[in-house]
Amino acid sequence: MDIQEIVSSQQAFFKTQQTKSLKFRKMYLEKLRDIILRSEDLLCEAIHKDFGKSKFDTFTTELSFVLNDIHYYLKNLNSLSKPKKVTTNLSNQIGKSSIHPEPLGCVLVIGAWNYPYQLSLSPMIAALAAGNCCILKPSEIAENTMKVMAKLINENFPPEYLYVYEGGIDETTELLKLKFDKIFFTGSTKVGKIVYKAAAEHLTPVVLELGGKSPAIVTKDADLEVAAKRIVWGKFLNAGQTCVAPDYLLVEESIHEQFLEMLRKYITEFKYEPGSEQYTRIINRKNFDRLVKLIDHKKIYFGGNSDETKLHIEPTILNNVNWEDDVMQEEIFGPILPVISFTHFNPVLNTILEHEKPLAAYLFTRNAEEKEAFTSKLSFGGGCINDVIMHLGNERLPFGGVGASGIGNYHGKYGFEAFSHQKSILEKATWGEPSIKYPPYSEKKLSWIKKLL
Ligand code: NAD
Repeated sequence: MDIQEIVSSQQAFFKTQQTKSLKFRKMYLEKLRDIILRSEDLLCEAIHKDFGKSKFDTFTTELSFVLNDIHYYLKNLNSLSKPKKVTTNLSNQIGKSSIHPEPLGCVLVIGAWNYPYQLSLSPMIAALAAGNCCILKPSEIAENTMKVMAKLINENFPPEYLYVYEGGIDETTELLKLKFDKIFFTGSTKVGKIVYKAAAEHLTPVVLELGGKSPAIVTKDADLEVAAKRIVWGKFLNAGQTCVAPDYLLVEESIHEQFLEMLRKYITEFKYEPGSEQYTRIINRKNFDRLVKLIDHKKIYFGGNSDETKLHIEPTILNNVNWEDDVMQEEIFGPILPVISFTHFNPVLNTILEHEKPLAAYLFTRNAEEKEAFTSKLSFGGGCINDVIMHLGNERLPFGGVGASGIGNYHGKYGFEAFSHQKSILEKATWGEPSIKYPPYSEKKLSWIKKLL
């Protein structure tokens, strides 16, 4: 079926009001959960073919997220969709005020390849929970996962409600010409701008989940063992192909050498080695070539080797890096960790402030003043103190960027709100109304109005 026809059928289906029924939404969320549970092997095989991701990582970083989202919405759908009463101001008496969350209509979700299930299915689940029809366009770069999602969803859901559209840049360009009620995009800042422009043609609201260079700062007051362990895990998980991975490290000079040793120790201990169960490969040749060029061989502290036949790049630490180096000019999105040392904490925050607002930022310290300065001075999407990445795992925290790292957010109730309109209703009594707002006007009425308003 032609995609334009499918979008039209979704718009027509939405108008039948069926997706507004909570029973309808729950039935399909349960169906999706059951499909995922019984297709775990198929989903794991596809992602392994795409970039060698293990069953363990696929469960912890992809499927568990998606299953938790379904569980959250099934549990909270009644309260999330319930109208909320608010107080009514004096000039609107006698009246009742309430906010009614309502679905938007037919929405488009465009996913990225690096966590292909989570980044496609989580926003899609939020869209369905909020009562919308949805077109999902996963990333064609992770081709096998795109195909398996298309197969499982298109064989089990009516296309006028939910449809997975397979395609690359040409297909997405065509898709973006159509009118949607919301576009939720995850991907690069460059493509985010293309999506935003296309959405503007139809005045379509957007959520843009983009990237950026996310710093991790380690001061002399940190628990260095914990910092090294958590940074190594978060940086080299998925071979660094994580939007919220620490992109680069800022380490206080007095602990610099000691800390690098600890990083080396944990890379070895975790067996983050090309070809091992816990380490993935680079998604494609284009990214492999881009990453290899970022490795300045004069600055390698650890790793640096790569194998173009297998698209493997060793976990690599670059030392004595400065802000002008190539590796500091773009989001790395791979297993290369540049380390810059600093002597004073506040100037380093000022340097971060001179760059685009990142998607995430991390601080490792036990010093209360440093924690306070980090939280109040820097602007970033979200982050952690004394950990990396894990803020994503708390559905009570909104997840999204700011400035160049994105617009809007989701997860938990924020995902539901991202795909809802908050409709205001004021219900007035038909009695007990003073007549002073109605013409003809008089000085006396004005003086009363001034007192009342
Ligand atoms: P990308 O921008 O290349 O692709 C994302 C999606 O856009 C894909 O579905 C792709 O088909 C489509 N697309 C690509 N070029 C297009 C074009 N010219 N016109 C229309 N559509 C187009 O991003 P990617 O390589 O899949 O992901 C890497 C980037 O995404 C990184 O910058 C990373 O930080 C960011 N990212 C952000 C998050 C987040 O949650 N904020 C999560 C993952 C990745």
